[in-house]
Amino acid sequence: MTSADKPSHVREGGHRNGEGTVKGFVRKVHSPHPSLNDSLEGDIQAFLIDDDLLHTYDDLTKVNPVTPATVLKCLQARYRVKVFYTHAGCTLVALNPFQPIPDLYTPDVMKEYHCAPQPQEFKPHIFIVAEEAYRNVQGQLEPVNQSLVVSGESGAGKTWTSRCLMKYYATVAAASSVVNSQDTVERIERRVLDSNPIMEAFGNACTLRNNNSSRFGKYIQLQLDRCQLLVGASVQTYLLEKTRVACQPVNERNFHIFYQMLKGATDEQRKEWKMPRGQHFVWLPNSEKPVEEDSFQETVLAMVHLGIKAERQRQLFRILSGILQLGNLDFSSSTDESKPCDLDEQSKDFLQRAAELLCVPAEELLMSLRVRTLKAGKQSVIKPCPRSECSMRRDCLAKVIYAQLFEWLVTFINNSIRADKATWCNFIGVLDVYGFECFQINNLEQLCINYANEKLQQHFVAHYLRAQQEEYVSEGLEWSFVKYQDNQSCLDLLEGSPVSVFSLLNEESRLNRASDEKTMKVRLEKELSDNANISWDKFSKQPHFTVAHYAGKVTYQIQGMVEKNKDPVPPELIELLQMSENALLHHIFTDKETVSPTSKGLSKVTVVSKFKNSLESLMRILHTTTPHYTRCIKPNPDCKPLTFKKEEVIMQLEACGIVETIHISAAGFPIRIPFKGFMQRYGLIAKYSHFKSGSHSVDAGAGDILRQGVENLLSVVLQHEAFDPLRKLNSVKHNSWV
Ligand code: ATP
Ligand code: MG
Repeated sequence: MTSADKPSHVREGGHRNGEGTVKGFVRKVHSPHPSLNDSLEGDIQAFLIDDDLLHTYDDLTKVNPVTPATVLKCLQARYRVKVFYTHAGCTLVALNPFQPIPDLYTPDVMKEYHCAPQPQEFKPHIFIVAEEAYRNVQGQLEPVNQSLVVSGESGAGKTWTSRCLMKYYATVAAASSVVNSQDTVERIERRVLDSNPIMEAFGNACTLRNNNSSRFGKYIQLQLDRCQLLVGASVQTYLLEKTRVACQPVNERNFHIFYQMLKGATDEQRKEWKMPRGQHFVWLPNSEKPVEEDSFQETVLAMVHLGIKAERQRQLFRILSGILQLGNLDFSSSTDESKPCDLDEQSKDFLQRAAELLCVPAEELLMSLRVRTLKAGKQSVIKPCPRSECSMRRDCLAKVIYAQLFEWLVTFINNSIRADKATWCNFIGVLDVYGFECFQINNLEQLCINYANEKLQQHFVAHYLRAQQEEYVSEGLEWSFVKYQDNQSCLDLLEGSPVSVFSLLNEESRLNRASDEKTMKVRLEKELSDNANISWDKFSKQPHFTVAHYAGKVTYQIQGMVEKNKDPVPPELIELLQMSENALLHHIFTDKETVSPTSKGLSKVTVVSKFKNSLESLMRILHTTTPHYTRCIKPNPDCKPLTFKKEEVIMQLEACGIVETIHISAAGFPIRIPFKGFMQRYGLIAKYSHFKSGSHSVDAGAGDILRQGVENLLSVVLQHEAFDPLRKLNSVKHNSWV
């Protein structure tokens, strides 16, 4: 194998031993490529689309011909009979039923898949993917870390699927275990699962697309010990959409936790948090909307399990309530520009409450919001802020507190669930990032989210669509190249060098001048016009640019983008928070581990630079693991149970290149076994004298000798009459051993 050190897509254990592989079980039977099918004429009866049988096709590679229309028809037929999972070669397609399906995810079902000698022979299920990864960890020769990449658009079911996967491992990786301290195992599983409701309470929100939309990305590594027991986990999060704290899009909501508090607080807590019944909070729109995730008790219980003490919880909820009070502050412009903005009586009341809850002096809080301190050498000059800046500072204060609080929570969770390095040796990573987004107005948040999706798509393209085919060609296999949509040019546009959208954004952000969207637009037009993935509507009044993403075109407004990228936090705000007497608030703004340089105002790391770096480190991890892809599909935009809208589904199938994936899987080699592993497993056959041929030696050796050994063994075996039918198949492609 020429690309020997690339991670492989292995059904029978991952490998990276550089000694090459044997590929087998060529599913040419249903190949869409006439060149392959022609030669198999007579041997195989091709499937043709039969409407009555469509729902029985467990693998889309069996559909013939493979076209977007036939794939769609098959998925629709399966959805109609409530079958939600379908293989698409190396990928699992998961259709969202939008209603609970009893008995599909019970521990008994998990155990069935876990205990089956060949789970692949069972009905397609997310548990097949889970089990395959679990078995792969052991590897053939050495353990291999695994990644389960769950993708799809907002509301498609990524978070649901990730939770299912975690529950699976929490069940099977412990249930079969015989350990001395059963308690510890139970505790760790429960803690790992309990991290979900907490992170979802703080990081998810009800949006137009999904009542429980993740507003952050998450990669959780489930740590396994030598006996493959789940002994811990660690979570990495990506770019929380903190703007939501202070600004909720029309008809959407703030993060769940605020509503949970509002609905679930006892009278005593209401009093303490200064949240009287009927109180309107500007930053809590659509409170009346019933959302399943509004379970305060569940979140608190999970906090208890993870070890967040009652006093810490008290401090935490007081901070959250303090944030809400800030949202009700309304500044009015002062008639005299040299004087700071005023607050009406009501706002003064909320200021007082916020100061008490955040445990900072009310005057200092007011001062930090409406007065800017300019430092010139050793002297400082005080300048009142205009009304718009006061509101901006108020929002900024809320955002920086919430973001730091979220980081603290993630650190706490990690400390609570992470296993000691000495106790675990391998991991299975589950990746659940926000889906592709395209709204009426898109800004830096969407640019980052869509960039993350581009990166994942690139990983899939590079790993599967491109690498597989290149490998076949380099090994001299007969292969008719399947065209696919490569998103590299879009990534070049966004992050490439020397110029890209990100580099220009960063340059503008680092210049010490007021952000000017017109300059940014002119620079984008001038410096990136060569890239076909960017365009402009000449007649639009608002400065903008449109990017052709792999999943569709998105128009981004430039206004506010540079400022968001700078994400400045006035130093007065940080100084204020550092003097807080709320122990948690004080801790998160003074602790070295949790205080990011930006929040201290020390560093000029921009939002996109930070995000790009964190994604690159994620990609590095993914590249060292064997990936398993699950594509979640949202069958209708209204989240209606069991409703299949063809137009919606086809767009998603096309966007993720599912048809190309099926083509490659159908014609490709789903099983690879390293030469050494192959010889270890099958070399025994050669020992039977009636398989021996005088001219061939089948001994295992190293490197090329190993390869020769495998070739000899196979040619000896294929000469035997027991393998007659297989020989017929292999007469087509000498390198495709069956
Ligand atoms: P986002 O990108 O917005 O976070 P998502 O892909 O994570 O979206 P989920 O929150 O996982 O979407 O799913 C949306 C909703 O769909 C869930 O809250 C749940 O009600 C329903 N759902 C998803 N998968 C399933 C399933 N397998 N069975 C039943 N309901 C499901
Ligand atoms: Mg989600």
